[in-house]
Amino acid sequence: MYQTVSTFDVNKIRNEFPILQQVVNGKPLTYLDNAATSQKPRDVLEVLSRYYQEDNANVHRGIHELSRRATVAYESARERVAEWLGASDRAEIVWTRGTTEAINLVAATWGMDQLTEGDEVLLTIMEHHSNIVPWQLVAKRTGAKLRYIELDAEGKLILDDLDQLLTDRTKLVAMTHVSNALGTVNPVQRVIEAAHAKGALVLLDGAQAVPHMNVDVSALGADFYAFSSHKMCGPTGAGVLWGRKEILEEMSPYQGGGEMIGFVGRDESTWADLPHKFEAGTPNIAGAVGAAAAVDFMEKVGYDGIQEHEAGLLRYALDRMGELKDLTVYGPKTLGERSGVISFALGDAHPHDIATILDSEGVAIRAGHHCAQLVMKHLGVAATTRASFSMYNTTDDVDRLFEGLRVVQGIFGR
Ligand code: PLP
Repeated sequence: MYQTVSTFDVNKIRNEFPILQQVVNGKPLTYLDNAATSQKPRDVLEVLSRYYQEDNANVHRGIHELSRRATVAYESARERVAEWLGASDRAEIVWTRGTTEAINLVAATWGMDQLTEGDEVLLTIMEHHSNIVPWQLVAKRTGAKLRYIELDAEGKLILDDLDQLLTDRTKLVAMTHVSNALGTVNPVQRVIEAAHAKGALVLLDGAQAVPHMNVDVSALGADFYAFSSHKMCGPTGAGVLWGRKEILEEMSPYQGGGEMIGFVGRDESTWADLPHKFEAGTPNIAGAVGAAAAVDFMEKVGYDGIQEHEAGLLRYALDRMGELKDLTVYGPKTLGERSGVISFALGDAHPHDIATILDSEGVAIRAGHHCAQLVMKHLGVAATTRASFSMYNTTDDVDRLFEGLRVVQGIFGR
């Protein structure tokens, strides 16, 4: 049976999340849809509430006490994220709505400026749509080509031919750090080194990495890193694009409007310094403040403990689910190569039926293509059922999932 690490007390952590203390459909809530979004601890909820109750004002412009406080809160949040992520400068942290907007920002600015006919962007077929479609849009407008790293039968990237996939025309490799559909943890360091050797930049989609592992962008050595606060215990509508300062400096602005300008004339304008050049309009101030509170929370709990706990849950869940007849688990077989995401099929039961039955048992999981239709095509299915773990999940949650799946089997007559 799985043991928690001595400093990691899952019951104490769980008590920090008020939403988990409820009954759904007559059963205690078992929340296993964490790859879609995570729940929020009291620390984050209180910071958000306090910001709105005490400090709310618009940032950077007002000459009054509340505006000063809001600006300090917003910029301190940036500073906090920069330090946590290992950025070399707070100006490298651009607030966005989330991972999707961060990638779209790079595609619409760097992509439109730098890519020309025949240039190549290397993606993987494991990408979330948010790291495919922005590049398709840019490729259509610039004549650039998209190439893909394929997956093997286990759902791991095939990197044997990486040197052939990276050509003299490759300008960017854009890939996910951790797969939301399979849980695969990618050997990003290897790809970064190979891409840089060919003169290509690397953008990493960290949406499924930062909730589970310590990420240091300087140590990783990529050029862009994108993530969403809501998947790591922070609020929705807030995310980050980290970019290497010298690259961000050269990039055109994303959207035009207030905040992002230096001077506005009739026909031309100049741009604000980094990172404000990329933050047009009133930003999600509370979102940024809440995201920094989430960073504080993650560090308070500790990534070592989180990783060990989630690896234990994964092991326990795979063992238990292994007792089920007709179960197919997708993704890497080796535990060290996957995060706490279990995408699976149960006989020929439709994933939506499984999710509906589990919901009636109080178990929240996800069914669908997980915004990763290329992965579904690779697996030869239209959809999978996905259970995904967070630090606050317990072996009881896994047991409830297992019992729910037994109910599914009962209904489908197996
Ligand atoms: N990338 C990955 C790997 C994801 O899992 C997700 C969300 O599921 C996204 C990108 C998009 O994140 P958001 O919707 O927060 O922009």
